[in-house]
Amino acid sequence: MNIVMFGPPAAGKGTQAKRLTAERGLIQLSTGDMLRAARTSGSELGKKVAGIMDRGDLVSDEIVIALIEEQLDANKGAPGFIFDGFPRTVEQAKALDASLQARGQELDGVVRLCVDDNVLLGRIEKRFKEEGRKDDNPESFKIRLANYHKQTAPLLPYYAAQGKLTEVDGLAEIDTVAASIAKVLDMQMAGEEKATKPWWKRIFGS
Ligand code: AMP
Repeated sequence: MNIVMFGPPAAGKGTQAKRLTAERGLIQLSTGDMLRAARTSGSELGKKVAGIMDRGDLVSDEIVIALIEEQLDANKGAPGFIFDGFPRTVEQAKALDASLQARGQELDGVVRLCVDDNVLLGRIEKRFKEEGRKDDNPESFKIRLANYHKQTAPLLPYYAAQGKLTEVDGLAEIDTVAASIAKVLDMQMAGEEKATKPWWKRIFGS
């Protein structure tokens, strides 16, 4: 099962993706984590993206698409992936569709965590104080949020048109959000099983 965890920065995508990894064995692919790891390692890629990330801008589509493809190949045979912070542009979404298709897979669903901008600003102030992430400072965060609305939100109609989009209230407690997501995924799995199982197995059991 391949799922995109969708939402603005600080909506709780990473937290929920980690829970799905623990509960369902899905592999979390967070492009933000990959880019931060590249910076920590001091690689050329890390140096190239540092300034862009600290400003709150998006790195190029080519870079993140290559990172995702590398991970898809490194995790062949995985039970599924949760894409966290990717895709963030329509170009990236199209590339993801193509990459999965080339590997005989597809995206099963997109879970959107709906959170108010004002709540995000409050959350990020707290995270900045606790973790000190450079791009969580108020100026960078405003740019990240603006980039989300301008470049990432257009993915919503893209996925809605594919019938893959489900919305979840991201303002609720972490456990409540997790339960809502679990319900969405269980319904999705039941639907897929129904669609792929022959009629005699559906009636008489497996
Ligand atoms: P995140 O931890 O997902 O908020 O990502 C932190 C930063 O990494 C973003 O503000 C971007 O600069 C960069 N980044 C992460 N994922 C992407 C992506 N899919 N496309 C472009 N830039 C990204």
